Amino acid sequence: MTNFRSFRADAVVLRHSDWGEADRLLTLFTREHGKVRAIAKGARKIASRKAGHIEPFTHVKLQLAKGRDLFIVTQAETIDVYQPLREDLTLTGYAAYVIELLDRFVPDEDVPVPALFRLLTETLSRLASDPIPWLVVRSYEMRLLDFLGFRPHLFECANCRREILPEDQHFSPLLGGVVCPRCGEGLPGLWPVSVEALKYLRHFQRSEYRVAMRARPAAGTQKEVETVMQGYFQYLLERELNTPGFLKRVRS
Ligand SMILES: [Zn+2]
Repeated sequence: MTNFRSFRADAVVLRHSDWGEADRLLTLFTREHGKVRAIAKGARKIASRKAGHIEPFTHVKLQLAKGRDLFIVTQAETIDVYQPLREDLTLTGYAAYVIELLDRFVPDEDVPVPALFRLLTETLSRLASDPIPWLVVRSYEMRLLDFLGFRPHLFECANCRREILPEDQHFSPLLGGVVCPRCGEGLPGLWPVSVEALKYLRHFQRSEYRVAMRARPAAGTQKEVETVMQGYFQYLLERELNTPGFLKRVRS
């Protein structure tokens, strides 16, 4: 990327912050160059034609030029604003969670991961159109774990490698998966996982999207699955995520 003075990028705006008097600093996830930071000049002026294109969670085509330290947005064209995500607070919360996971796990470097870019745009588009956003997010989490190399063990015990039987289990974030009741005794840092929750975790892990969307877990099981997944991500990040708390507040 550093060899080019100017290039086009297919990008999703992950976040932005104020920069100087009238500019915005954008954190972008691009198809071509992974995570990139760029300045949108004059984006905070009310009449700016660029401003509407560069809101968070927007899919845009950008022309970026190499400035002295950072890239500068010279042209912006909207591909999809995912409008429903802006009109419904719960959907906004889910979209923020999806973006936050990607932003926290993907380092700031020029490494293109086109398949991950596709997963992100597909997920935002599904959140904007599919009737059960909860399922969209669970499917996304499992695919993201695959990409990140943290696919959890759900079929054999993460400790003794024996096949997991249909009974209540434990989950070990440290060992990266389900731990059988035999190994679980005396091991620290385990969370309980019911047979029912395990069934759905496996379903999301092994099913392609359309199939994953057929799941209809009961409310209690949903909560359990969500707690395990978010807990696992938090463990991997070694710090608290901001967005689950936000989602909880919007829902109540
Ligand atoms: Zn075991």
